[in-house]
Amino acid sequence: MKMNNADCMVMGKNWEEWEKEFPIVKEIRSLKETVWINPDKLPFDEAAEDCQLGMEDILDASRRLERFASYLRRAFPETEKSGGIIESPLKEISGMKQVLEERENIRIPGRLWVKLDSHLPISGSIKARGGIYEILKTAEDIALRHGLLKEGDDYQVFDSEPFRKLFSQYSIGVGSTGNLGLSIGIMSAKMGFQVTVHMSADARQWKKDMLRSKGVTVKEYASDYSIAVQEGRKMAEKDPYCHFVDDENSRTLFLGYSVAALRLKEQFKQAGIQVDQEHPLFVYLPCGVGGGPGGVAFGLKQVFGDSVHCFFAEPTHSCCMMLGMATGENSRVSVQDFGIDNRTAADGLAVGRPSGFVGELMRPFMDGCYSLSDERMYQLLALMADREKLYLEPSALAGAWGPVLLAESPRMQELLMKQGLEKHVSSGTQLIWATGGSMVPEQEMKEYCRKGKALLDH
Ligand SMILES: *Cc1c(COP(=O)(O)O)cnc(C)c1O
Repeated sequence: MKMNNADCMVMGKNWEEWEKEFPIVKEIRSLKETVWINPDKLPFDEAAEDCQLGMEDILDASRRLERFASYLRRAFPETEKSGGIIESPLKEISGMKQVLEERENIRIPGRLWVKLDSHLPISGSIKARGGIYEILKTAEDIALRHGLLKEGDDYQVFDSEPFRKLFSQYSIGVGSTGNLGLSIGIMSAKMGFQVTVHMSADARQWKKDMLRSKGVTVKEYASDYSIAVQEGRKMAEKDPYCHFVDDENSRTLFLGYSVAALRLKEQFKQAGIQVDQEHPLFVYLPCGVGGGPGGVAFGLKQVFGDSVHCFFAEPTHSCCMMLGMATGENSRVSVQDFGIDNRTAADGLAVGRPSGFVGELMRPFMDGCYSLSDERMYQLLALMADREKLYLEPSALAGAWGPVLLAESPRMQELLMKQGLEKHVSSGTQLIWATGGSMVPEQEMKEYCRKGKALLDH
């Protein structure tokens, strides 16, 4: 059915008027891979001054995670060797760099590294940061309120019957495309909460199966992520003993993610990587609703200031953050409003409407956004598997296109020139944030690789 533009009003303007005012909307609507450079980025000090959140909030979250370390190492023995700290490895990927250079016939400036949140303990994705943090904070709040916990206590006590009994009177709800549900479900069930995960149609069957095997209630929806969130929120509203993890609005999740930056700073130091004005850092973050990548980018800006440059990476069919930021309407618009279907194999990024606060909060901090096709993600997946023996899920590869764009996109080149970065970029570092994959069943991973390889040979 061909729709008449007059039928397609978004906030009082038709598509044509939107495209005229924001030419990038035309590129987004045509599902082209594209780059959007943020015209409203500010010097860090100015941006930080007007921001409602700051370093103190990140440090508060970090201290909370440290308090819980003694609990986590007991409840999840896999975290024993990191002392109960949930953290992922950082790895240089020269093989990937080389193959990208050969295939695209470019030179990727600087060194190329990957941050393997795909291999975070407990739930195998970036959601093991924010998701787990929000459950821990909720549990802490409840325990303090009931007088079961006092300041200074060893948090091992969370792994005991009185705590589990208390939490069993409470329930946790969350809407998810898969990985957030996995994180929240695993953590909540372990602490003794009743937990319901509202899964969108994108969620993989194995994630639902795994959750059910842990005693989590999984509700399935035929529709997309926003509806799953809405339904979950509605159920939770009626119940004062239910905490709803609101992925579209949660500052707690956001701050949980942001702690990654403090950890990365240490990892860089140990790896001998310098980050300063002469050694800039470029970071590419796969983006769904925006909480994960937004939180990480926020932390990185607090830690590295003007020396770090952050980009959100999204599928062409679900580039809600780019649409929201480019139009300045943030969560007031969705990709569906503009006739885009929000269908992507990158299930972790299948989100049509961005977070209600991330686009706005991150506006003065971000360098930009880019979008890439599903085929591209599969190809990158196969290359990463082949060259680096790193097995990631499709969503986690969205960041891997960034270094190519930095080398060859005219808009990126212009950004480097404008910020006086072109003479420093080759002494800098590029970091791909790999956001998930280590828990994908072997058969499914083989299929991903096969598909990517077929697209490469094409
Ligand atoms: C959730 C997720 C993201 C993006 O996080 P948002 O907070 O939704 O933006 C990226 N990659 C993977 C694998 C994810 O599961």
